[in-house]
Amino acid sequence: MTYDHLLSPVTLGKLTLRNRVVMGSMHTGLEDFAWDVPKLAAYFAERARGEVGLIVTGGYSPNHRGQLKPFASEMSSRLQAMRHRQVTAAVHDEGGAIALQVLHAGRYAYHPFSVSASSRKSPITPFKPSALSTRGVDRTASDFARSVALAVKAGYDAVEIMGSEGYLINQFLAARTNDRTDAWGGSAAKRMRFPVEIVRRSRELVGADFPIVYRISLLDLVEGGQTWEEVVELAHLLEAEGVTLLNTGIGWHEARVPTIITQVPRGAWRSATARLKAAVSVPVCASNRINTPELAEQILAAGEADLVSMARPLLADPEFVAKARAGRADEINTCIACNQACLDHAFQNRKASCLVNPRGCRETTLVLTPTRVRRTVAVVGAGPAGLAAAVSAAERGLAVTLFEASASLGGQFRLAMAVPGKEDFAETLRYYARRLEVLGVDVRLSTRATVADLASYDDVVVATGVTPRIPDLDGVDHPKVASYADVLAGRVVPGRRVAVIGAGGIGVDVSVWLTHDPSETTDDWMAHWGVGDPTLHAGGLTERKAREPRREVTLLQRKTSMIGKDLGKTSGWAHRAVLKQSGVVQVSGASYDKVDDAGLHYTLDGVAHVLDVDHVVLCAGQESVRDLYDDLVALGRSAQLIGGADLAAELDAKRAIEQGTRVAAAL
Ligand code: NAP
Ligand code: SF4
Repeated sequence: MTYDHLLSPVTLGKLTLRNRVVMGSMHTGLEDFAWDVPKLAAYFAERARGEVGLIVTGGYSPNHRGQLKPFASEMSSRLQAMRHRQVTAAVHDEGGAIALQVLHAGRYAYHPFSVSASSRKSPITPFKPSALSTRGVDRTASDFARSVALAVKAGYDAVEIMGSEGYLINQFLAARTNDRTDAWGGSAAKRMRFPVEIVRRSRELVGADFPIVYRISLLDLVEGGQTWEEVVELAHLLEAEGVTLLNTGIGWHEARVPTIITQVPRGAWRSATARLKAAVSVPVCASNRINTPELAEQILAAGEADLVSMARPLLADPEFVAKARAGRADEINTCIACNQACLDHAFQNRKASCLVNPRGCRETTLVLTPTRVRRTVAVVGAGPAGLAAAVSAAERGLAVTLFEASASLGGQFRLAMAVPGKEDFAETLRYYARRLEVLGVDVRLSTRATVADLASYDDVVVATGVTPRIPDLDGVDHPKVASYADVLAGRVVPGRRVAVIGAGGIGVDVSVWLTHDPSETTDDWMAHWGVGDPTLHAGGLTERKAREPRREVTLLQRKTSMIGKDLGKTSGWAHRAVLKQSGVVQVSGASYDKVDDAGLHYTLDGVAHVLDVDHVVLCAGQESVRDLYDDLVALGRSAQLIGGADLAAELDAKRAIEQGTRVAAAL
């Protein structure tokens, strides 16, 4: 496929972009302190080298009170602006263009000095904001404009004013959070005055042709969100004030509708962007849950947008655009929308990286240096850890042989892609398979490596993975009992009533698999989450349509804590909601007695229960498989042990891929 629309240049004010790919704004944690500036510059430079059209930085606050957390990124002084010159120069040296995003957190700020349109606290932050005074609003609008002017001094090619995702500007726009009675609230027109003033004052400072991007919230997806008429009216007002491009945002952070995680169908929000595009004359940029050049091209070719913003996909693969242009799209390391190393880290106050690309945001510290001596490396096991080690070692120029006992690549990851909403995980295996081929790795499937097979290699990396744990339970051999691996691989087809033992990530996934209707369409998905036509429902939110679970599932654990509490910070709530919507009965604090023809016997609070089920699915964690490693060590051979074979507890693809990459970098 050629990407004629995606790769065609576009002019925004005085700026001409080489293509229509925007790397959307994402907070990485490298924005906040001066000592991280070289890392930030390297991170962006690698993406510019990879030919992205326009990079947008993480959000920089226009003043102290708008900081996302104490001492977080801010653009309010000349000194701060000068620090950015290293970043902008690094991007320009690679032929790229970069925009500064100006973001005031409003009531999403994680500090006690937060301000908002009103004093209404957000449900996702512990701090109650102060309502800005009338003069305070006016000053804040001017602070935005000052940041925009400073961006010009810092060498930025454009700015983006963050008006979506529920941050301060969005808080002014929605009746949900703006109950003011002064000139900045009351009617819809007065609620819109704040962003309009920001753009007007910014435009006055930077002249007619400096590109000002405004990120507009298309669907707030919260009660009391903007109506579609208000969104379009705002877009027209912003156009009149000289906005160059309207980027689009979907959903406030406090919305209880997932907008970007894996279970959200790809391109789910494109129709909302198309609707805006039809109503305005400035260019419009689509965003959210677009992760392949094919989909981006389709959206542009259909005339639904003029540019496409992808944030996480560019973190996952800095060469996304260059590979698409060179006819190597099948080598793109696709973002799987897991949020595990990017947004989850950002919300845990940790530096972001990427599950499928652990070099993301570590460009200066995790380097795959080309080797001078072509040593031979055997990697045993082709799960995520082994795949990452094999590909990374081969990228360095080492001669790699990859042994895999089964007939296919992927290990436990292959099971994950069977889970509804995790289909994108297949992209990671496609990426690895293709890279192994391109790099000429000697892949030996259906080959269980022995100590003798490994004797001739300079280095041996053992990634033999895990095996599902079989609990010590009376009746565990009963025909009703199956492991999660049997179920997800299709070797056992469970009946209508199922008990799931173990409520970790896999127990939750399996419960979703058991109840999910495989014929669910994107429209069904929208209906289940209560997303409606925005012209009929304010904020795009309506009544949720009930799910019709395929099976009756009871999910049990021995712990007394809430089920699913340890799932990802930014995705766990959605998985827990699906369990609830699917009628999965959740039992904490159970002790298992036995399985027999009557079903699963367990005790809860001293009372014996029998669950009359057709199947009992074991999701009781894993145990490391390390016989080969032990044999090698016994013979005095040195070998590196990685992935689940190294640590089965909290088995985790993020850790496995990072460990595999680090081991290969150090060979
Ligand atoms: P896990 O998170 O370790 O959970 C297994 C559960 O089985 C434990 O919580 C434990 O709960 C129970 N268990 C352990 N030993 C048992 C025994 N002898 N008898 C009965 N129950 C026992 O493992 P997992 O669910 O297999 O997931 C593995 C890893 O995959 C996770 O750590 C996670 O990182 C990752 N993952 C994440 C997601 C996600 O975030 N959505 C999805 C899939 C996988 P009790 O002791 O309370 O019974
Ligand atoms: Fe995408 Fe997951 Fe990487 Fe984030 S961590 S960029 S969601 S693959």
